[in-house]
Amino acid sequence: MKYKRILLKLSGEALAGEKGHGVCPEVLSQISGEIADLSAMGVEVAIVIGGGNIHRGVAGTTKGMDRTTSDHMGMMATIINSLALQDSLERRGLYTRVLSAITMPEVCESYIRRRAVRHLEKKRIVIFAAGTGNPYFTTDTAAALRANEIDADVIFKATKVDGIYDKDPMKHEDAVKFEELEYIDVLNRGIGVMDSAAISLCMDNAMEIIVFNMFEKGNIARAVSGDKIGTRVFK
Ligand code: UDP
Repeated sequence: MKYKRILLKLSGEALAGEKGHGVCPEVLSQISGEIADLSAMGVEVAIVIGGGNIHRGVAGTTKGMDRTTSDHMGMMATIINSLALQDSLERRGLYTRVLSAITMPEVCESYIRRRAVRHLEKKRIVIFAAGTGNPYFTTDTAAALRANEIDADVIFKATKVDGIYDKDPMKHEDAVKFEELEYIDVLNRGIGVMDSAAISLCMDNAMEIIVFNMFEKGNIARAVSGDKIGTRVFK
């Protein structure tokens, strides 16, 4: 195994399935199955999950809502998703902990770095909820932040397509996939795979990112063993 401790970033939309919003039980079960495989390999797994399937801060502001309030709602959405994922993983007999950046002691643990690391050492799956706990940020930035804090070996960014392309592969047949990219190229080309704050944080701390389709059976195992898969962002 090339990577022993990974931070998996899932977007909220990944949970929504065909409907595009809410949480789809079948999709959730598929995702938890892939995570279970990962955990069975002995990899320490931390997860940051988005909230875009329920609420996205910027979307609220377009309807006249105060940005901070709207972002608070977005962070709450990530807690809902975290609990759904925790439930799905626990039904498979896995041990999990949700650690929230916004304290909600009746519902889940609060984020404490040392506690997160201890859970990982005990092979519990850690789900980081509520992003960074601050408005004006995204869960991509939360993923970059937490990955650095827990000293993860890599960020696995799960996407619908199998990596980063020079143009949208859903719209252009001649789109070409990048095998590897430097952080600075992602920033200069304005590639929206993760927001620029997240990419910058990874660049400044040499946190490797692998962008790939985790829904293709076996992809996660290949990624963990270091096989070339998706697009690797590094340097
Ligand atoms: N959010 C925030 N601070 C954070 C992380 C998230 O305010 O540190 C809010 C923000 O409104 C964002 C929403 O939570 O739009 C959902 O997160 P995100 O858009 O990153 O979810 P994804 O696109 O991954 O589903």
